[in-house]
Amino acid sequence: MAYAYDDQNIFAKILRGEIPNNTVMETDHTLAFNDIMPQAPNHILVIPKGPYVCYDHFALEASDAEIADFTRTIGKICAELELQPGAGGDGYRLISNAGENGVQEVPHLHVHILGGRWLGRMLQKAD
Ligand code: 5GP
Repeated sequence: MAYAYDDQNIFAKILRGEIPNNTVMETDHTLAFNDIMPQAPNHILVIPKGPYVCYDHFALEASDAEIADFTRTIGKICAELELQPGAGGDGYRLISNAGENGVQEVPHLHVHILGGRWLGRMLQKAD
């Protein structure tokens, strides 16, 4: 099934410069910025610049260059914020919500990087 991308979503507006953001890192294919409602001391959203709705859409349809750039950017941010558990950091969590069951609010792929505090178990009991 083909995904329909809504170019009026808030992250598309951020990418077009219509809404400001607090940029953490920017590359040719990727933008990372602080979440407006942080859930942890470190809460960064990493988004591809291309029009991808969610992770599987990106993973199946993005170019190798986009995928490599996106993945490396996540790694560089974890390193820059000293979150890497293998290098003395306290660790982090990556989350990418997709669709209704995933409770995705913004229909442009984003990976949340959360860190800076103990994050608890992966899932809480659903309401
Ligand atoms: P989702 O629930 O789709 O995985 O996460 C969407 C995230 O986008 C939320 O954590 C929310 O706080 C964040 N967000 C929504 N609107 C804005 C905005 O205008 N600017 C920034 N920086 N973050 C936003």
